Amino acid sequence: MDLILRGGTVVTAGDTFDADVGIEGGRIVRLGFGLGPAAREIDVSDLYLLPGAVDVHTHVDVEFQGLQSVEDFHSGTVAAACGGVTTLIDYALPGPGQTPLETIQAWHAKARDKAVIDYGFHVAVFEPDDATIQQIPDVIADGHTSFKIFMMGTFEQNIGGFMRMMAQVGRHGGLVNLHVEDACCLEYLARRFNADGKYGAAYFAESRPRAAEGIAAMRGIGMAQVAEVPAYLVHLSCEESLESLANARGRGHTVYGETRPCYLHFSRARMEEEDGILYAGWPPLREADQMEILWQGLESGVLQTVATDHDGWSFQQKKTFDKVDEILAGMAGLETMVPLLYSQGVLKRRLSLNRMVEVTATNPARLFGLYPRKGTIAIGADADIVAFDPEARKTIRAEDMHSAADWDPFEGWEVQGWPRLTLSRGEVVVDRGRVLASPGRGRLLRRARFSETVARL
Ligand code: MN
Repeated sequence: MDLILRGGTVVTAGDTFDADVGIEGGRIVRLGFGLGPAAREIDVSDLYLLPGAVDVHTHVDVEFQGLQSVEDFHSGTVAAACGGVTTLIDYALPGPGQTPLETIQAWHAKARDKAVIDYGFHVAVFEPDDATIQQIPDVIADGHTSFKIFMMGTFEQNIGGFMRMMAQVGRHGGLVNLHVEDACCLEYLARRFNADGKYGAAYFAESRPRAAEGIAAMRGIGMAQVAEVPAYLVHLSCEESLESLANARGRGHTVYGETRPCYLHFSRARMEEEDGILYAGWPPLREADQMEILWQGLESGVLQTVATDHDGWSFQQKKTFDKVDEILAGMAGLETMVPLLYSQGVLKRRLSLNRMVEVTATNPARLFGLYPRKGTIAIGADADIVAFDPEARKTIRAEDMHSAADWDPFEGWEVQGWPRLTLSRGEVVVDRGRVLASPGRGRLLRRARFSETVARL
């Protein structure tokens, strides 16, 4: 064997047990006691061995409203690895006229020489024309098996095309990811607020109300049902959409829900502070009572995943726009997602450690065709492992974080529990905050179809 992690406590979605972990050729080959010897051994006693998190919602290197994010696939994946994320699935967003396959090529070119962990892509579709719909089987056959639809912006003008697209994805075994905010509510409110001169962070949350998320969730679930495609609702933030989700799941529909760290850790009061505009997201932060509803949804199984929606915008970029429909959305989260879930979730008894592993690693890997290669600690799986120190204490400071963004939404937060070692395919890529990975070592993942892999979740 190449490497043994000796004396740790392995945590999976289903079990917690003490075992040595034997690694060869980048994969886990043995689990047991007294393994070895191996070429290299690392003592991990008193540490948890978690499967590396699989963050299935990122925008690592993105241009939006004429601004280029300060993050790229090197800084973004280094931040991920430092925080215990060993796989990400980024959204490949097409330019005008760009086909899905061209879009994936363009995104692969951004990541190829920079990424330090493995990555895949979901392709967004803004214009579901016949050529795009015809290409979907080739995109899926190429290993990119999930597609994103934003139910906002120009969604209404293309509704027929989106239905045909959803049906095509379903026929070929894929999964559709839905951004659920209702286009017509958002457009009406933005127009009204702009006309009334209601600019800035103070009006942002009101311009994208919970009702708009609720009706889009209900409609998106219904559309997916009619089109016969499994659906995954991204970054849910409130009880209105969770009710639709719980309802549909209770009736046996194949539909899933994700939430995002900022909705678990902040209420909309954060946007009323002086730097509130930094906390703008789509959807916006919600009332404080919604935070507990989301924690409960995660614990009870209404929600299946947590993902960051990571965006690496600078402080200055976030302050560029003032109109409610132009305010730049998004914030960094890759490095802090797992430690914050541990501190705020596990230590506060809102989630078990096993459930934390399930929602950050196992479920996302299952839903997006990466399981059991990613998302668990098992014989045959890639050795993507985080040796997590549950006693480590840290104060989150932007200057210590590895994102290229010059601010962090959790600045000053005290956390307990931080990764000591991160392994990607058996290679130690981070050791006590020292980054050992070379740029470009991360590989593009070809993912299985939803229809081939998912045991009912
Ligand atoms: Mn997003």
